Amino acid sequence: MANGNDYSGGGGAQMGPQDEQAYIAYLKQTFAQLPNDISLILFSRQGQQDIFSEANRKVIRAFRELTDKINFREFDLNHKEAQKYQVDLPSTLLIAPDRYHIRWIGAPVGEEGRTFLETLLLVGMGKSHLNEQSAKIIRNIDTPRDIKVFVSPSCPYCPQQAVNAVKAAIENPEMISLELIDIQCSPELAEQYAAHSVPQTFVNDMMIAMGAQPEELFASSVDKLEQQTIFIPDNDAELVELDVLIVGGGPAGLTAGIYTARSGLNTAIVERAALGGQVATTPIVENYPGFTSVGGKTLVDIMVSHALEYVQIFQGEEVIEVEIGFPIKVTTTRRRFETKTLLIATGATYKHLGIPGEDRLAGRGVSYCSTCDGPLFKGKQVIMVGGGNSAVTEALHLHNIGVSVTLVHRRDTLRAQEFLSKQLVENKIPVIWNTEVKEILGQERVEAVKLLNNKSGETSTMETNGVFIAIGYEPAVGLANKFGIELNDDGYIKQDGRHRTNIPGVYSAGDVEGGFKQIVTAAGQGSEAAIVIFEDLINPYWKQKKAV
Ligand code: NAP
Repeated sequence: MANGNDYSGGGGAQMGPQDEQAYIAYLKQTFAQLPNDISLILFSRQGQQDIFSEANRKVIRAFRELTDKINFREFDLNHKEAQKYQVDLPSTLLIAPDRYHIRWIGAPVGEEGRTFLETLLLVGMGKSHLNEQSAKIIRNIDTPRDIKVFVSPSCPYCPQQAVNAVKAAIENPEMISLELIDIQCSPELAEQYAAHSVPQTFVNDMMIAMGAQPEELFASSVDKLEQQTIFIPDNDAELVELDVLIVGGGPAGLTAGIYTARSGLNTAIVERAALGGQVATTPIVENYPGFTSVGGKTLVDIMVSHALEYVQIFQGEEVIEVEIGFPIKVTTTRRRFETKTLLIATGATYKHLGIPGEDRLAGRGVSYCSTCDGPLFKGKQVIMVGGGNSAVTEALHLHNIGVSVTLVHRRDTLRAQEFLSKQLVENKIPVIWNTEVKEILGQERVEAVKLLNNKSGETSTMETNGVFIAIGYEPAVGLANKFGIELNDDGYIKQDGRHRTNIPGVYSAGDVEGGFKQIVTAAGQGSEAAIVIFEDLINPYWKQKKAV
């Protein structure tokens, strides 16, 4: 199973019937080895239709077919057990309340199925599986911490943060209580905390993180009751020796990993957030060969399962230091690497509009991820800013899940492919042309936007519940900048046409070095870089240069 250090793929990958049978057999065997029974108590309003309680029953039924270790009871919210555990919201699931304070408000479906499986296994083992450094921080907490993590089933970033919190609750049950809250099941609670994006984490009612954190940063944020951004591991942290270390688990990094490992090079991939990069949050991909139409997350799961056949993936840890030399020394939030070569495949991050209100209202109605946050706006009015493939794909996604969306574009023609643009018209999604968003307005949450028609010069205010922004990406060169990798004039990593950077032994691939920025081209860049690395390790160009 995934223990937070290594990624086990999980749930969504497509499996053939034989693989599925093997996976079920593996799960049965894993559950059979657990030393503890797992008690689950669901509180619902009996006699009332409630999709979340029904989903809980179905998921739990499926798990009980795998193991007899799960004891399941269900009570009405009026039952005295509800008072005993102070439960007042329907579809609240208590997990092993005899030992821990972990409650799930909602149902463990979609991406959260991964969290649920991992929670059951950890509870069954009676171990947090935090790494030693995070465990030390959590164990030393000696005053109560009430953690709330807002999640949604469509958010690929959420399981990482939810599992961090579950582990903390298992490590220190005397001091730590946890509520995992599906934002759609309890919109009132989300509203109370003004949590309009996921994942968002509160401890003792203070927000400590917007987004998923590496485990160590989560642990120190819970300890210090405010967001921590730097964690330096102990000097005696595990040392891993490699031929190739790949930073970034998107299509470029995953493909490179498959290639280098198959060439016999000892390879690992480090990814600080969700595997798959931008693809993981792309609602639908229709131009990746072999798939006429596939969910971005599904495509990622397939790629990750494939990569895991060959290469170890360290997910949820961030590179904090790189020391150039032979070998190259890399420190992450969790361990140290000594590697002959380093491949930077850190991808790109979404561009900001840079207008007043944007940062202040981020997570309060301003969003860059329609897959994660779209469901929170069902039945509401939002705008989507941008005119490229991302903006149109995401506008269509929002429309399809019942959000009333208007596209706002600064010119009078779209940059998006015609195939996508046509669908906007077919779905009658309104477009406001030649218009720029100048300010996002609202106190606690987005209430309106100020618009400027750049043809007529007219300004107006439009009421809206949300502002989704999809105006392109910027290369994620923070790490490259830290240790002196040269960039080109456009801010991408400068490479020699064979993915070699200015630093011997350091390579780049994917969106961080520019190019056409398609999934298929990123995968192609990853494979090219891997082949060059293989050739260079046989015949190092940096040694040839020295000899001249
Ligand atoms: P993009 O193609 O660069 O388009 C960005 C859009 O945002 C453009 O329409 C641009 O307007 C607008 N924009 C940029 N800065 C702005 C600002 N400050 N204010 C208002 N509008 C602004 O970015 P993308 O759509 O994210 O796509 C990125 C890459 O991923 C592309 O290569 C794309 O092909 C690929 N992609 C492919 C798919 C697919 O094939 N299904 C899906 C998603 C992304 P102008 O048009 O006026 O410049």
